[in-house]
Amino acid sequence: MELDERLHGIRERISAACELAGRDPAEVMLLPVSKNHSANAVRELTHHGCRVFGESKIQEAKLKISACPGNLEWHLIGHLQSNKCRDAVRFFSMIQSVDRMSIAEEINKHAHNAAKDMPVLLEVNVAGEGSKYGFNPAELLDILEPINDLPRLEIHGLMTLAPWVTEPEKVRPIFQRLRELKEACEQKLGAPLQHLSMGMSGDFEVAIEEGATLVRIGTALFGPRPRPAKTK
Ligand SMILES: *Cc1c(COP(=O)(O)O)cnc(C)c1O
Repeated sequence: MELDERLHGIRERISAACELAGRDPAEVMLLPVSKNHSANAVRELTHHGCRVFGESKIQEAKLKISACPGNLEWHLIGHLQSNKCRDAVRFFSMIQSVDRMSIAEEINKHAHNAAKDMPVLLEVNVAGEGSKYGFNPAELLDILEPINDLPRLEIHGLMTLAPWVTEPEKVRPIFQRLRELKEACEQKLGAPLQHLSMGMSGDFEVAIEEGATLVRIGTALFGPRPRPAKTK
């Protein structure tokens, strides 16, 4: 199947999941995750109305971004090291993977230097998996205000990566929990948060039923990820 056909199929599935949940499809943003895929594939999707893309690694993203049209936006969705914050602030319009206090402070510092306000999502390790990054749900409310006090950071919502399962129904409680956490954050901040970034190729319909506003889709759109090329 061609890329444009797969895109069409995903958009149909998003609409169907919204209909099932009584939601407006305009509330759900599709973020194509282009990691390990070429600038050509990104360019092709831009001809079908895609303008914002997700990348996991700064180094790969920098090369790809410079090879793509300049009117696109990029979201960082992978773990960020402090020595890459400067580039993250420079190349991305949103950092979805703020997973610890120290990285929030470092992003704030570089955003300040660049005279830029940086939209971010707080990544939550809802299932408490040792292999995953993110705040644990119990600490989220405690770090919320210190992060909100960082002048150059704008908290736009929460992000999570659900455990990998073969049956998406099994991760529904994870998505429900993230939604509850977002409501608790809104209460504490006294302001609404726009985004619940949850759901990937294998589980996005369930995530939409539980309130996702942004689904991050790689494989179901671009096909299997080639292994990253070795770079020297
Ligand atoms: C790779 C990745 C995705 C996309 O995963 P697929 O299963 O290929 O859709 C989504 N979110 C994050 C954080 C990722 O690293």
